[in-house]
Amino acid sequence: MKLDSRKAALLAGAALVAAAGAFALGRAGFFSPPDISSLWSWSLDDWVTTSVGPSGERVRVTHEPFALARNLALVCASFIGVLSWAPRIVEIVTRSNRAAGAAPDDLAQTRRSIDCELGTILSLVRSHLESNKNYSAALAKGHSALATTTSPDQIRTAVVLLIAENRNMLRETEEHQRRLEESQQQISQLRAELAETQELNVRDSLTQVFTRRYFDQTLAREAREAAATERALSLIMADIDHFKKINDGHGHLIGDEVLKNFAKTMSKHIEEKDTVARYGGEEFAIILPSVSFAEAKSTAERIRAEFENKKWAIKGGAPIGRITASFGVAQLAPRETAESLIQRADAKLYVSKSRGRNLVTVDADLTPR
Ligand code: GH3
Ligand code: MG
Ligand code: MG
Repeated sequence: MKLDSRKAALLAGAALVAAAGAFALGRAGFFSPPDISSLWSWSLDDWVTTSVGPSGERVRVTHEPFALARNLALVCASFIGVLSWAPRIVEIVTRSNRAAGAAPDDLAQTRRSIDCELGTILSLVRSHLESNKNYSAALAKGHSALATTTSPDQIRTAVVLLIAENRNMLRETEEHQRRLEESQQQISQLRAELAETQELNVRDSLTQVFTRRYFDQTLAREAREAAATERALSLIMADIDHFKKINDGHGHLIGDEVLKNFAKTMSKHIEEKDTVARYGGEEFAIILPSVSFAEAKSTAERIRAEFENKKWAIKGGAPIGRITASFGVAQLAPRETAESLIQRADAKLYVSKSRGRNLVTVDADLTPR
């Protein structure tokens, strides 16, 4: 740990003042001077001087040559600690906001983690600040003991300087405390945002994929990021074929099961960075950041093929037969808006419908990045 020149000078000054005080008190006959050579030994051991005040009481002063350096190191360590933990807290909150696969229990767990980590940081920093205060109190005590002696004027002057530096230290401590309180407020704000996210109800209650609202926000953000970083961004729109017939023929509960199954099938074929959402009714959308339309087409093909090949059966009920879905794919073009991307992918989905369903159609008209 490095000390800056002001603090190194303060440390050296404190040692000199203490040595001069001990020497003068020894000369005045108040006690046997300590072994002066120990001052230059750079030993971390304390040494104690005893003086007799005007009313005859004995005053013990403990000198700690490295106490200032140690306490400064503790303050620095505590702030490095806060700064290095900050990104971790932000990461946890960001992950929670995305809420990929997160159930309400997971979100509550995340909140508990934030509380726990925050508590650890605060107690660590508080204990360091406490050590600092103790040191300041010890110095002030040493000063009052020296001030009651008949020591030379220089000693007093030097000690007054030492106390002034000590006040600086107290001011710095207060500033640290203030900054800590600020970061505490910031974390409270993050917690409030986390609670808000939880309330947004980002998951569709039937299929457990994201809601339309979450989809709209995510696509707008991903489109901005893709434009700024010149990364690819693709969108798949998907719709179950003749879904009304399934409802009419087998009931809404079976229809619900088909919706759940389709959502599960889509989720199986995407990565964590991707977002599957229920766009409305039996229509779904998949946002694929950093994916070209050709790769998106392959993903849609895999989903289509797996869904088509499922064997549907109801115990004791009428046979269901094959259920299929149609897909439209588009990649974000330069300067294109999220709304336009949705329209192009949706238009291609309806091309798949009009060409007989159970198809993937890609919009490759606009030159992709
Ligand atoms: P197409 O192949 O052209 O897409 O025909 P389709 O029958 O799938 O489309 P249509 O829009 O005619 O019918 C969609 C049906 O989906 C109508 C609606 O009642 C049903 N639906 C929407 N949401 C739900 C739901 O949450 N559960 C169930 N069981 N049915 C739903
Ligand atoms: Mg449909
Ligand atoms: Mg539809």
